[in-house]
Amino acid sequence: MNADEFAQLTLEDAVAGVRQGAFGPIELVEASIDRMDRFEPVINAVITRDDSAARRDAAGKKDAAADQSLFGVPLAVKDNIMTRGLRSTCGSRILENFVPPYDATVVSKIRAAGAVVHGKTNMDEFAMGATGENSAYGATKNPWNPARVTGGSSSGSAAIVAYGGALAALASDTGGSIRQPASFCGLVGMKPTYGRVSRYGLGSLASSLDQIGPLTRTVRDNALLMDIISGHDPMDSTSAKQADVADACMAGIDDGVKGLRFGYDPSLLDKEGVSPVVAGALRRAVDIMRENGAEIREVTIPLIDYGVAAYYIICSCEASANMARYDGVRYGKRQGDGDVWQVYGETRGKGFGDEVKRRIMMGSYALSAGYYDAYYLKAARVRRLFTKEMTALFSDIDAIIMPVAPTPPREIGAETSVLENYLGDIFTLPANLTSLPALSFPVGVLGGLPVGAQAMAAPFRENILYRLARVAEQNSRLPDAPWTKPEPEAAK
Ligand code: GLN
Repeated sequence: MNADEFAQLTLEDAVAGVRQGAFGPIELVEASIDRMDRFEPVINAVITRDDSAARRDAAGKKDAAADQSLFGVPLAVKDNIMTRGLRSTCGSRILENFVPPYDATVVSKIRAAGAVVHGKTNMDEFAMGATGENSAYGATKNPWNPARVTGGSSSGSAAIVAYGGALAALASDTGGSIRQPASFCGLVGMKPTYGRVSRYGLGSLASSLDQIGPLTRTVRDNALLMDIISGHDPMDSTSAKQADVADACMAGIDDGVKGLRFGYDPSLLDKEGVSPVVAGALRRAVDIMRENGAEIREVTIPLIDYGVAAYYIICSCEASANMARYDGVRYGKRQGDGDVWQVYGETRGKGFGDEVKRRIMMGSYALSAGYYDAYYLKAARVRRLFTKEMTALFSDIDAIIMPVAPTPPREIGAETSVLENYLGDIFTLPANLTSLPALSFPVGVLGGLPVGAQAMAAPFRENILYRLARVAEQNSRLPDAPWTKPEPEAAK
């Protein structure tokens, strides 16, 4: 098997191939190294990789145990998910020297299943952003067209899977960071129900919104990884006991959508700024479901217009608290040599980028005495109402189909305002604010760029989302995908 054949393998194929002895863990790792060597100089998806550690790990793998469902397969991990002995920067200068002494629970789980962790992927600094351009390590280029953004914040996790340097990646989603890059890179991305996947060892952005999930090329691969990383974890106090008893993500995945009831809010497509390409993809997704026997019901998604305001208050408040630990004393590369205030100031002044500073300021302001009721408390009330109304929708429908991002990926470096960037999250934030699971899946390719759609379900009903996306996958085509190419495309 050469590197180009590797790049087109699904995770399931790779696991089966190793089991049957068609190829071994070492060949898989060598193939991933070869693809990274070819694509990284253009794409910049990886912040840190340790090829010799990956080779050693692969060489040490003997026969697969029955429960080693990822035996010998190289996977990439977003750089805010802690990997023991492998630098984890969260995309920030302030952590440029940080080598974690422990693995995140999700990393322990994939390692226990036999995976080789190879490549810590680029991201917007501390996951704040939606383009990948806020990384201290440079923007990641979209493998479909390197002049475009990959989306974010999980820019590198999406790009490396799209160019076939890894067969899947783990990432985090606080307001869309898995689903939006999935849509921009032609991938499947899951934001699980809050509490289904442990956050232990995730560098927090907003702890009440963050979830870890997989980015993959196929729907079945995504469900396979989800079933490995899900589960209650005593090390994360917000982890849900229900995670252990919910239906498996693989359950019924090939059963089709006949008889399922899906909600669809056509008014979302009339919103200002929604591109015709996105509207077209969504109508296509709805048609596919109808043609395959699902019942489509028109619904109204309540309060969606308040989501962006509520999210950016809550997220900034929680982020400002979470960022406090990076002071050069507890965490973070220390700078300055004066008194403690001077050290704090210089460490944080030099270590954080603009977007992180902006959120620390917004969050500290909104939480300060006298403003708490006006901002945080109000946003928390909107969130509660939103959750109540969204959850109620699922009493008589199985899932809602909606867009992922209002537009296709824009050009890297284009002039945009902060507000414009925040408004781009309108369709992904609802799932985080309400704790509901949401899946982004590819629908087609237009103008050389992929477009996805999103489905959201009741808590712990991830398996319904996979059933739906599987039908979309069987009825869509993604021509000229980067994983089928031997070299990176030129920027167009
Ligand atoms: N774009 C959103 C933000 O910047 C979401 C980021 C995320 O999901 N981590 O906050």
